[in-house]
Amino acid sequence: MTNVVTTTAESPIADGPSASGLAATALVETPERNPAQLPGTQNVGAGQMGPTGRVMPGFPEPAALRSHGPARIIAMCNQKGGVGKTTSTINLGAALAEVGRKVLLIDFDPQGALSVGLGIPTYQLDVTIYNLLVERGHDIHDVVQHTNLENLDIIPANIDLSAAEVQLVGEVAREMVLARVLRPIVDEYDVVLIDCQPSLGLLTVNALTAAHGVIIPLECEFFAMRGVALLVETIEKICDRLNPRLKVDGILATMYDSRTLHSREVVRSVVDHFGDLVFHTVITRTVKFPDSSLAAEPITTYASTHSAAEAYRQMARELISRGGAA
Ligand code: ADP
Ligand code: MG
Repeated sequence: MTNVVTTTAESPIADGPSASGLAATALVETPERNPAQLPGTQNVGAGQMGPTGRVMPGFPEPAALRSHGPARIIAMCNQKGGVGKTTSTINLGAALAEVGRKVLLIDFDPQGALSVGLGIPTYQLDVTIYNLLVERGHDIHDVVQHTNLENLDIIPANIDLSAAEVQLVGEVAREMVLARVLRPIVDEYDVVLIDCQPSLGLLTVNALTAAHGVIIPLECEFFAMRGVALLVETIEKICDRLNPRLKVDGILATMYDSRTLHSREVVRSVVDHFGDLVFHTVITRTVKFPDSSLAAEPITTYASTHSAAEAYRQMARELISRGGAA
């Protein structure tokens, strides 16, 4: 009995962001949704009911760019681990590169999963983002690595980065170090995506201070929204004190399983809280993602015709059509 009570009392929005201004502005009209009827992510065309319970708009094929830069900088951020930050950074980046955007990915997690996921042997690196942050005199261009994909570059990281948090504490304007490091290169790219580590420590604060926007990946699991209130509060503080241009670009539901009521309920509660901040695009749970990480490739090349590759392509179009990228 106790078990039953505990399970039903714990809602995925137990720690929801009800007090935040962001949530309040996001509480726009959303049509009545019955989660039991929410469809999967496959084959949802424009004008049909999408997995978030809203009618799926059409996202036009992005126009080709005649010139490049300056980049819009987006932090992929959630202090919870395993929610799809790194997977979304790689695959959204690859999908944007596919439509001709020049994309720079920044590995900002000492685990280096983004670097490894793109085939970079992190233990052999002489210079990484760490050196740019804590040492003077490096040219950022020397740290950029090209990937096998046209238009997709990366600044890698490895475990060295774990020392940066402590080393930066004594720096003048310690929250603005990454913004300064990126300045010489932003004009050469259309989009910079920063793959944040799962914490709200100084590295993440640096990412949010350098960024124009934040994308928050949320795993479609119970407790997904635990901690989102704190994240939103942190974003608001950084906006107030350090980076007034910062905005939440959107919330991306990941690891969605349309067969479970559970997944659909989580998406419903996220849309109830955040309204149109939630991207229409939802990323399905599929083993193709861990498979493509093992192959050190984005899903857009590893399983180019798979619906999950298509989902990140749609995400790229949605982001562009929202004005989140050029
Ligand atoms: P984070 O960077 O937030 O810690 P990751 O992107 O590394 O999260 O994802 C955590 C794990 O879940 C990885 O093993 C990844 O391959 C897997 N994963 C991510 N997205 C999906 C998905 N949509 N379906 C299935 N597995 C996924
Ligand atoms: Mg990660």
